[in-house]
Amino acid sequence: MKGKFQKPRGTQDILPLEQKYWFWIEDNFRAVMTAAGFGRIIFPTFEDTALFSRSVGEETDIVAKEMYTFADRGKNSLTLRPEGTAGVARAYIENGMHKEPQPVKLYYFGPMFRYDRPQAGRYREFYQGGAELFGEEDPIVDAQMIAVMIKFYKKLGLKNLVVQINSIGDAKGRPKLEKALVDFLSAHRRQLSAESKRRLAKNPLRVLDSKEKEDQAIADEAGGVLLDNLSKESKTYFTKVLEYLDDMGVKYELNPRLVRGLDYYTHTVFEIIDASTGLALGGGGRYDGLMKILGGPDTPAVGWALGVERTIDCLKKQKVDVPEGPSVDVFVIQLGDEAKKKAIRVIDELDEAGYSVGHALGRDSIKAQLRVADRNQARLAVILGEREVHDKSAIIRDLSDGSQESVADKSLSAAVGRKLKEKKK
Ligand code: AMP
Repeated sequence: MKGKFQKPRGTQDILPLEQKYWFWIEDNFRAVMTAAGFGRIIFPTFEDTALFSRSVGEETDIVAKEMYTFADRGKNSLTLRPEGTAGVARAYIENGMHKEPQPVKLYYFGPMFRYDRPQAGRYREFYQGGAELFGEEDPIVDAQMIAVMIKFYKKLGLKNLVVQINSIGDAKGRPKLEKALVDFLSAHRRQLSAESKRRLAKNPLRVLDSKEKEDQAIADEAGGVLLDNLSKESKTYFTKVLEYLDDMGVKYELNPRLVRGLDYYTHTVFEIIDASTGLALGGGGRYDGLMKILGGPDTPAVGWALGVERTIDCLKKQKVDVPEGPSVDVFVIQLGDEAKKKAIRVIDELDEAGYSVGHALGRDSIKAQLRVADRNQARLAVILGEREVHDKSAIIRDLSDGSQESVADKSLSAAVGRKLKEKKK
């Protein structure tokens, strides 16, 4: 049935039965990031619009086409965050974290908003888990950041993922790189798509990640031009990143066309691709220039973000056996007025003993209550009827095989504990 309202295009309702995937991802994400020495940061879901246009870049798709920008009642221009790095970098400066011992390592988990064209794996509100490391510029740090991400995916149980990696050089070498690229692309201008012609003038690096068919051959060659024109320092830096990845046992593929959509990247850029679908699960890179753009102290940084919905799709496709989310241990069913009153005490007792307890006290028929128990994926039921009130007892029913036994009130919570333990075996 459709009511008067539907959710906005590109958004989702994530219902209880789907939550086991979310718990699996959030729990593992927190565990892996904490073990790797990252502290969690929560930061606003909206910021000054200029924060994003300055850092992500005016010419990027995100800023040019995809931001949810609005004026608030105070006439400030605000934007729902399309990505996490800009906000975390702003927080780093604003909270004086540059004065703390470096590196500062932060992770986050939360919703991002982009006015993207909704399709499979692409939403307008989607969740990202992300990590940022500030204050260190060393190839081993780039490699380590990639290794942490891979560790997380391994822990989730995902296979068949490929790290694609490239270098786009440092800020110093960027003019030379762009000039070489513009020279090369201009010589083939006639063959380029209209979009690439436009990018050629504004942001030539972005021609490399064009999806247009007619651009493919030239973009492939342009990747080579990029690599050939990296400065000596940038090449050395990149080679070292790759060597460290080898040492860490992280497998990667070079992708000379990988530039990533955002302006703030320098040196290493990378993406994690699900080899079976070709979709990117996440990506990131080094962004040594961002802090200064935001008016902060010159601080090197590297980070990444991964898409939660795409990771869930991948878990489902690979049929990863994800543990059931928190479910109801025991469901208390009552029949008759006196039993209803007794149920209140039994629920309290089981709750205090530490079990998760379900009930539908407002329903009288046993069938209706069992249906709710089933919907809650309850494992046991405690059934209270008139006889149980009279006998000071309760029936414990195993909801998977229907077997049941009667126990005295005083041993009820111990018996529930024993039954649950048996079921776990
Ligand atoms: P990005 O910040 O664009 O590098 O994106 C990092 C990851 O976030 C991507 O690899 C996707 O997994 C995910 N992502 C980006 N945009 C969307 C979107 N519109 N819907 C769902 N996931 C997205």
